[in-house]
Amino acid sequence: MPTEARVRRLKAVLDRRQPDLTVLMENVSKPHNFSAILRSADAVGVYEAHAVHPTGGVPTHHHTAAGAARWVYLKVHPDVETAVQHLKDRGFSIYATRLSDDAVDYREVDYTRPAAILLGSEKWGVSEQAAGLADQSIVIPMLGMAQSLNVSVAAAVILFEAQRQRLAAGLYDRPRLEAESYRRTLFEWLYPELARELRERGEPYPELDAEGRIRWSSS
Ligand code: SAM
Repeated sequence: MPTEARVRRLKAVLDRRQPDLTVLMENVSKPHNFSAILRSADAVGVYEAHAVHPTGGVPTHHHTAAGAARWVYLKVHPDVETAVQHLKDRGFSIYATRLSDDAVDYREVDYTRPAAILLGSEKWGVSEQAAGLADQSIVIPMLGMAQSLNVSVAAAVILFEAQRQRLAAGLYDRPRLEAESYRRTLFEWLYPELARELRERGEPYPELDAEGRIRWSSS
């Protein structure tokens, strides 16, 4: 049975989740980078992250993520075209993080609107194909000797600019998830094992009362 404090804490986090802010990781291959990006995503309130990975699986690194993977849903797409289309269909603008001449300073973007930050692989960066599908390229100005940042550092810099803008716009002041997503997510966060069992059996989740206790129906 979850404690009152636990339920309060999970609800407070859910109240600040931002369904219209996300990251799309294109072949980010190092587990510690992948996990660090998810951890930053959690910290700014990303509800669901996206990834494309050639193996079909994703690299995870539980230590670095500090469990963040449990709190940020991850949707893995078979290829970048499918991923971008999925996001565009849901109204997202795609911002490709690139060190290219046509990239604008990342601070010029309005992240209070639905935004997906496209991050490239450690070695090759964002692919030409993905960049061509994106709405805009953005860059974090580099004024030193190094040509680029670590991908998880770049992700954090941009995500926290998005958080700054969204805080100023009041987007963390009231719940932004749809009621059904909120209800489903709270159940999965409070009762992960049971939620998995019910999903496997194809059964719906039961209702929760205000204290997060399960209201089993008698029928
Ligand atoms: N050689 C690669 C290239 O030219 O893109 C470098 C890739 S960089 C190590 C890995 C990823 O970090 C990039 O694909 C991008 O997503 C992000 N990144 C690193 N530095 C960046 C910067 N200054 N501005 C925007 N994104 C950056």
